[in-house]
Amino acid sequence: MNKGDSDLMAHSLEKAGLRRASGEETADIVVFNTCSVRAHAEERALARIRSARSKGQALIVVTGCMAQRLGKRLLAQGYADLVVGPYQSPRLGEILSSGGGARAYLSQDHRDFAPRTDEAAAGRRDELPFHKWVTITHGCENYCSYCIVPYVRGRLISFPSEAILRHIRQCVEGGATEITLLGQNVNQYGMDSGDIPFHRLLALAAETPGLLRVNFLTSHPMDFRDDIVRVIADHGNISRSVHLPLQSGSDRVLALMNRKYTLERYASIIAHLERTLPDHAVSTDLIVGFPGETEDDYELTLEAVRRFRFDEAFMYAYSPREGTPSFAMEEGIGRERKLERLQNLIDLQRAISREKLLARVDRAEEIIVEGPSKKSPDEYRGRTYLNHPAVLPAGPADVGRKVSVIIKKLRGSTLYGERSA
Ligand code: SF4
Repeated sequence: MNKGDSDLMAHSLEKAGLRRASGEETADIVVFNTCSVRAHAEERALARIRSARSKGQALIVVTGCMAQRLGKRLLAQGYADLVVGPYQSPRLGEILSSGGGARAYLSQDHRDFAPRTDEAAAGRRDELPFHKWVTITHGCENYCSYCIVPYVRGRLISFPSEAILRHIRQCVEGGATEITLLGQNVNQYGMDSGDIPFHRLLALAAETPGLLRVNFLTSHPMDFRDDIVRVIADHGNISRSVHLPLQSGSDRVLALMNRKYTLERYASIIAHLERTLPDHAVSTDLIVGFPGETEDDYELTLEAVRRFRFDEAFMYAYSPREGTPSFAMEEGIGRERKLERLQNLIDLQRAISREKLLARVDRAEEIIVEGPSKKSPDEYRGRTYLNHPAVLPAGPADVGRKVSVIIKKLRGSTLYGERSA
């Protein structure tokens, strides 16, 4: 989400006549687009901001969720010259060039919400010129008990489908071959505005001529309906990798997390994916050590990981976020035990991820080439339609194109392929 927001801010700054500096040292304005999802992310951002402040005279702008949450404090402590929350950041260029004197732009009023599907943004050449992040919703109203997002990003706002689809067409005309539809919970698209439902938007996006791949992030199991799977099955250019955060294998902990689904509901989605999409991948997010998680609850998470055999998982030890309901809940275990639980889980999942990657060896895959690999000038990196990282022989002309390969080996967690006819 922050990559998508950074993209829009960069566009807004360029539109206001600013140019990209070669680095922090030569910049007149340094923008920190921050994340608040974990305390660690904020701590790291703060260290970077402090360091920039101590180095030079540049104007320091802090944007994103940390600006929304702690902006006034950052101004008072002298770390930032301007703070701009996620509602306002797409018009950062306008704010800077207005010279209006205000130092905090933190309103969460819907009327202040700047258009996020700026048509002109389509033609910009980004770090990955063939790939565009396309934000379809802003905010979230699910209020998972550990999550700060609804408080810093505000209520769900779905952007009009017509504008999104027009934007996608313009992205493709500007050279994009791959897009990622973005939202905190894309499955709730249109529920606030009465626009078309997510599966229709996904189908229409995938039907844009010239688009080689469509990804979407993130799905909430509570709203992940069968018709989404049907749309994926009907469109060969939709990624076969579904990110479906489980968070815990225990219904009791899921209820404490306010996730609004049970393990069996999650299992029924996985079963439907298996029936409908013979070749697909599922990635997930898992939290261990949530307040009140017992050894039995933790075992249920391990069992769920063995049962669902995720291709990939983002695993975290619970970290309390001030301002969320779970901040007030008593943590049942100490940090050491929490980290032990996390390590066991990581070991289990790593072994499964490796087995799943090994099963791809000798298979035909289609890869969208992203750019040169770090290790060799003759090798390029990309991702398969199951979102597995892969390396293949390719050249600059292949970037953004689909290349057919046979997977020959697995090294670390990267597949290596040879081009096939
Ligand atoms: S769905 Fe839950 S975890 Fe995801 S952004 Fe919304 S509140 Fe946070």
